[in-house]
Amino acid sequence: MTDSSTQPKNTETMEFQAEVGRLLDIVAHSLYSEKEVFLRELIANAADAAEKQRFLNLSAGVADNPAEEYAIHLSADPVAKTLRLSDNGIGMDRSELIDHLGTIARSGTGKFLQENKTSSDSAANLEALIGQFGVGFYSAFMVAERVEVISLKQNESQAYHWQSDGKGSFTVGESTRPDGRGTTVILHLREGAEEYLEAHRLRQLVRRYSNHLALPVYLDDPEGGESERLNDSQALWLRPRSEVTAEELKDFYQSLSHDGQEPRATVHIRAEGSLEYSALIFIPRNKPFDLFLPERKSGLKLYVRRVFITDEGSDLIAPYLRFVKGVVDSSDLPLNVSRELLQNNPILPKIRRSLTKKILSEIEKLSHDSAAYESFWQEFGAVFKEGLYEDFENREEILKLARFKSSEASGWSDLSAYVARMKPGQEFIYCLSGESPEALISNPHLEGFKAKGVEVIYLTDPIDEFWLQSVSEFQGKAFRSITRGAAELSKIGETKTESAEQKSKNDSQKQSVQKLAELFKGILATEVKSVELSERLTESAVCLVAESGDIDLNFEKLLKQHQRVEKSAKRVLEINPDHPLIQKLAKDAEAGRSERIEDRAWLLLAEARLALGEALDNPSDFARRLERVLI
Ligand code: ADP
Ligand code: MG
Repeated sequence: MTDSSTQPKNTETMEFQAEVGRLLDIVAHSLYSEKEVFLRELIANAADAAEKQRFLNLSAGVADNPAEEYAIHLSADPVAKTLRLSDNGIGMDRSELIDHLGTIARSGTGKFLQENKTSSDSAANLEALIGQFGVGFYSAFMVAERVEVISLKQNESQAYHWQSDGKGSFTVGESTRPDGRGTTVILHLREGAEEYLEAHRLRQLVRRYSNHLALPVYLDDPEGGESERLNDSQALWLRPRSEVTAEELKDFYQSLSHDGQEPRATVHIRAEGSLEYSALIFIPRNKPFDLFLPERKSGLKLYVRRVFITDEGSDLIAPYLRFVKGVVDSSDLPLNVSRELLQNNPILPKIRRSLTKKILSEIEKLSHDSAAYESFWQEFGAVFKEGLYEDFENREEILKLARFKSSEASGWSDLSAYVARMKPGQEFIYCLSGESPEALISNPHLEGFKAKGVEVIYLTDPIDEFWLQSVSEFQGKAFRSITRGAAELSKIGETKTESAEQKSKNDSQKQSVQKLAELFKGILATEVKSVELSERLTESAVCLVAESGDIDLNFEKLLKQHQRVEKSAKRVLEINPDHPLIQKLAKDAEAGRSERIEDRAWLLLAEARLALGEALDNPSDFARRLERVLI
């Protein structure tokens, strides 16, 4: 329906400000990835207008008419192919229509244009500009070939009409607005944009972008029946915490996450002061299946003053906290900030920092209930630990919250408890990496530590190898892998006092094992870096360790799986001087029975490899040597 009854009078044609002209040109060629955002922009403008009117009444001491609720009405006319949006907000008079819809009045945009006057001719520049400030009202021209605006201000008798095809000029004239105060925007839809006449599409868009707007959005019935309300009630996250019921939180969480369970924890944030935002964040019970997929979307939705902006707000949350779900509503971001340019907005890192602290403190609260925390850790521990190398600022806090299994404690344990259990003389936090605690228990590297009761932390997530590279210490104690470097166990706990006789016996035994080690080294020179007497073995005869400056064993394995390293660095073979087999071989070496040594050296190296779960390079060589010694 074109308003033939209210044909505009006394119309005047005017040129758009040059910048607007160029902007419209780009809009027509569609800069946004989704044209549908026009509805979000127009609804946001209508909501702004309502808020301005409410504020105006408030500051003038005029009570809002209780019979007249602030609302937005959509109505579609499939015959005329028009979509109308009506509000009862502040409205615009003639000069405001000219100023607001004919120039770029927004301070930021204007300033930007001023500063870039000389170079702003290029389309690329304008695209950058638009990305930064959004196109707001002009986005209507993405879907409409002609746009009419009819507006009436409070306490004024004359309504005005604005119209343009978005091609350089617009007209303004007098009109009437039977609905009273407010603004009606009429979009004459382009060919191909008919979808925006369909109720289901409008319903979908309003739910998507404007669901939590404070004022209702109605779709009017073309037959004059009852209007349908398209958006939900008031934004939950803006209500005081005490007024929100657990049931409402659960419903909201479920609609947000499509998770059938209740959330594990809820963080309700109302930040005020230098940074203003509200947030409602949930920690789910279970981890989503796609937690480790790179293409996964963030679980957070970003709103600006209750208007949905994006759910691709991965910049809103530190990646190691990507398991949370929720909404963040900022008052500091410009409403029409485009999602393309969100990354460069300086407000986001501030919100992210504040959110991170709040979420960490909620997780800290969870940790007071050890059973509940264990379940949290089972689900999210592996992701959470990424924070150890990602989030330098909160590293100490994350280390405190981290849980580990170990060789001495049953169940999960934390690092403070580990440090409290350290033995006299123990300088390091010892750790051992592998696939699972079960696989690590029988690891020969652990033997000497177990014998002395020195606790070793099991690191069984791939991520552990990465943070270990960058985290140097906890409470002044450095981390030390027990498969790398010397074990130096003799410094820990009581040192045995030996008699002079015993000592000389031990020393001579040591000397002969030392000689054996030299012999082994000569035989295995192509395969090992050196052969050393072990302090960490008590039961096994041999084990392999990485030299202190080299990549640790499990890390190397991981890198190999990802084709990051080709060939292993040479390792150190440790031999156990107290093992009967080593002592026997030491005697053989002393007695010059060197023919017994070679095969056994190779077989012992193979044994050490097998104990690490590695495959042998040359199985047939292994088999031949084995047969020879078994004869
Ligand atoms: P922004 O909303 O960022 O200011 P827009 O391009 O969306 O930019 O709108 C430009 C201006 O037009 C608004 O600031 C407002 O003053 C005016 N305006 C747009 N729509 C309405 C409306 N429905 N009611 C009153 N004023 C409006
Ligand atoms: Mg706007």
